Amino acid sequence: MVRPIVGDGTRERDWQAWRAMAQWPSLPLDPPSPPLVVAPHPDDEILGVAGLMAMLGEVDLVAVTDGEASHPGSIIHTPDELAAIRRAETGEAMRRLGLDTTIYRLGHPDGGIDEDTLAGQLAGLLAPGRWCLATWRGDGHPDHEAVGRAAAAACAETGARLFEYPIWAWHWARPDDPDVPWRQARRVDLTPRAQAAKAAAIGAFPSQTAPLGPAEADAAILPPHVLARFARPFEVIFE
Ligand SMILES: [Zn+2]
Repeated sequence: MVRPIVGDGTRERDWQAWRAMAQWPSLPLDPPSPPLVVAPHPDDEILGVAGLMAMLGEVDLVAVTDGEASHPGSIIHTPDELAAIRRAETGEAMRRLGLDTTIYRLGHPDGGIDEDTLAGQLAGLLAPGRWCLATWRGDGHPDHEAVGRAAAAACAETGARLFEYPIWAWHWARPDDPDVPWRQARRVDLTPRAQAAKAAAIGAFPSQTAPLGPAEADAAILPPHVLARFARPFEVIFE
């Protein structure tokens, strides 16, 4: 279900005040092999699970698109330029996490992911029991939901273990929102070191966290009230 991302969304202080979050069970970090992390756009993997990646120390990353559609009316950058910038930002972010990661760049069009093709591509990288971390199927953004569904199909086919991370749900959902599977929520509490590494990695995406230029079409995608939701000392994934 597509949910327009408008307004300021749910404030981080309202999430922090929701006591249920402290009760969610923590996820034991015992993957049998380096997990496969799947990002619809460069930065989703960092916002969602950078701390988890930093603590595990080894993952493989699938970059489904290059994120060229983040600023469709930009008068500063063409889509091709944005794609190149965002590819470089991902590489820098992974370095800031201390990871030497294999990045599979699939080059699907931003805004037009071919879900069936993607499911086949992911299945080729998964194995029984391997962890697969993908954006949540109900996240409200078409690309995030397509990636979640494709990952779910690939995990069902291969016997891999699926985890889904929300990104935009923190914006449109409310505490105790009935549209979110809170019962499947698992906490990943971050060490101070992992939290600092995540903050540094988020700082590797100036194309998203700062305006490209003064025009409305060049506004920041991730302004401070959005970034506040990803500065918590824990991450949340659904299993
Ligand atoms: Zn995204």
